[in-house]
Amino acid sequence: MTAYLCELAWVGGGRPEADVLVELDGERITKVAPGTATSPPDTTRLSGLVIPGFANSHSHAFQRALRGRAESSGGTFWTWREGMYALADGLDPPSYEQLARATFGEMALAGITTVGEFHYLHHDRGGARYADPNEMGKAVIVAAREAGIRVTLLDACYLRGAIGVEAEGTQRRFSDGDAEAWAERVSALEQGPEVRVGAAVHSVRAVDPASAATVASWAAQRDAPLHAHVSEQQAENDASLEAYGSTPAAVLAEAGALDARFTAVHATHLAGSDFGLLGRAGATCCLCPTTERDLADGIGPARRLADSGARLAVGTDSNAVIDMLEEARAVELNERLATGVRGHHPPAELLRAATLTGHACLGWPNAGRIENGALCDLVAVDIHGVRLAGTNPDDPIPSILFGGAAADVRDVVVGGSLVVHDGHHVALDVSRELRVALNAIDR
Ligand SMILES: [Zn+2]
Repeated sequence: MTAYLCELAWVGGGRPEADVLVELDGERITKVAPGTATSPPDTTRLSGLVIPGFANSHSHAFQRALRGRAESSGGTFWTWREGMYALADGLDPPSYEQLARATFGEMALAGITTVGEFHYLHHDRGGARYADPNEMGKAVIVAAREAGIRVTLLDACYLRGAIGVEAEGTQRRFSDGDAEAWAERVSALEQGPEVRVGAAVHSVRAVDPASAATVASWAAQRDAPLHAHVSEQQAENDASLEAYGSTPAAVLAEAGALDARFTAVHATHLAGSDFGLLGRAGATCCLCPTTERDLADGIGPARRLADSGARLAVGTDSNAVIDMLEEARAVELNERLATGVRGHHPPAELLRAATLTGHACLGWPNAGRIENGALCDLVAVDIHGVRLAGTNPDDPIPSILFGGAAADVRDVVVGGSLVVHDGHHVALDVSRELRVALNAIDR
């Protein structure tokens, strides 16, 4: 495969161009030529609007198993968490891998070419180590490879049940005991052409400030991405203020975590001073609106974050929904609900959050755009089907952003290889994979 010819392609960030020939060498783009009438004989045609691959900047793949089982039961974030723990407790490396492969297959069908898997289910029941202490993380990496997508394994340090509280029950499977043991284990994970290893501080609830500093320094030494759940719930802020006299963002800043490699996941309940901390650091804030609304977290202050200098990304988090267009538009639509005003984020800015910025915050700065030298990740969105028929070909981005869905993704190219063709995964029967994986676990 040496070239793709796109009916329309979003290149350079402006209005899409027609008849765009994308040539490649291996996984990288070598030429982008709009207005190409004739193409080489071994060219694959991509119809509709071709955009860069989506980066799903925050995922817990196994939580896909809660879809439809945890939305209608009432309660709070904290009662939802009990159900999530019960699910986690039933998983072992084979079932974790099977479920992740199926979930990543669904992501590929949705046009996600890179996933940031925020991984904390490290150990066996009771905290016992597997023969290879990275067996669960390696299961995630294998699952992504088999699903044909790139992965950044954000290996999370998770040491306590809450501030000053020992990890107990299922949480013991998450804990390495201390940050040094976490660092030693994670250092044994290997990267590859389709795999990055990043670090995560689960939250200031689960990681004390000194341990967060150890994780931050591990990531800094390797120039690796560092992610953390930040202020998802007001209760987290209250606990942090009571224990440390500082907000979670300020605790992480003090630990040396905040810089351009840092991503604050959620950032829903920020104090006024947190905006400057995140903005001046050039950090990314990853909003996960479909999960945040499901868990009654609240609405993230995306516009104010962007105005403060933070970059925005989006993620599917609990995977109750896997649709990056839905995540991206919800950033705008939620702010409309919160403010009574429309038009906070231009559609192209939202699309960049779901592609370019997302890839950068996962350690793939050469992905998420269609240009020379970039990784060849292409997503063809059908603009002729029932949802998007009549789209203005001169200005299709608003249509796909506000009217499109994951089901409109027809073809997906990851690193030059066609992973999804005409709405079907080329290697996996994804619905069957999901059925088998979900039936195999006790929910
Ligand atoms: Zn999360």
